[in-house]
Amino acid sequence: MPHNHPVIAIDGPAASGKSTVGKLVARELDFLFFDTGALYRAVTLAALNRGIPIDDEAKICELAKQIHIDLIPSSQQDGRPYTVLVDGKDVTWDIRQEKVDAHVSTVSAYPGVREALKHQQRRIARQGRVVMAGRDIGTVVFPEAPLKVYLDASPEVRARRRCEELRARGEHADYEEILAGVRHRDAIDSSRATAPLRIAQDAVVINTDHLTIDEVVQEIIRLAKERQLVNA
Ligand code: C5P
Repeated sequence: MPHNHPVIAIDGPAASGKSTVGKLVARELDFLFFDTGALYRAVTLAALNRGIPIDDEAKICELAKQIHIDLIPSSQQDGRPYTVLVDGKDVTWDIRQEKVDAHVSTVSAYPGVREALKHQQRRIARQGRVVMAGRDIGTVVFPEAPLKVYLDASPEVRARRRCEELRARGEHADYEEILAGVRHRDAIDSSRATAPLRIAQDAVVINTDHLTIDEVVQEIIRLAKERQLVNA
C-alpha cells in the first residue's frame, strides 16, 4: 500500500544538487516538484526591486506577508522546471541572478520571513504527492515527512557545479567568486537562530561528491519504494 501522505523532503546546502535531483525524482515518481528556495529568492528580488534595504528587517518581513508568490507548471521551452510569479509577474530567471544569491541568506534568516513562507509551503505540500527541496523541510516545515534526504557535497564540488550551470545558460561565472559565495551562504544558513540548516535526526545523508546525478536519483527512488511511498 502506498503511503497516504507522501512527502519527500530533500534538504542540503547551497548548490548540493537538490533541485536537479528533486526534479528528476519527481518526474519519475509523478510527484510535484516544489523548490522552496524560489520563495526566499522571490522575496529577496522584490525587496531589491523596490529599493528596500536588505537590513531593514521589519519592512522585509512585511513585504514577505504582502507579496503573492505562485509556482506554476512551466509553459515555456527555455529550460525552466516551472514558472515563478510574483504578483503575477514572471520572475523565474530573475530570482537566479547573482545579486539575489548575495542577499537571499540575509533575508531568509529573518524569522518573520520564514513564518510567512512556512504556511504557504505546508499548504502546497498538502495538495498531494510532493518532492520538496530546501534547508529546513525535514526539520521544521515537514518534520513528519516519511522520507527525508540530506544531500551533501564539498564546497568546491558545489561551486564547480554552479559555475557549469551558469555557463550553460550563457552567463558569466567566476569559480573563485562563486566558491566564496557558497561558503558565505553556508555560514549564514547554518548559524542563523531560526531554522538553521542541519541534518534531521531521521534523514538519510547522501554525499554526492563522487556520485552521478542518476545514481543519486535512483537511490532516492529506491528509498521511496522501500518506505512504500510509491508502489515498488
Ligand atoms: O536553494 P536555493 O539556493 O535556491 O536557496 C536560496 C536561499 O534560500 C538559501 O541560501 C537559504 O538562505 C534560503 N532557503 C532557506 N530555507 C529553505 C530554502 C531556501 O532558508 N527551505
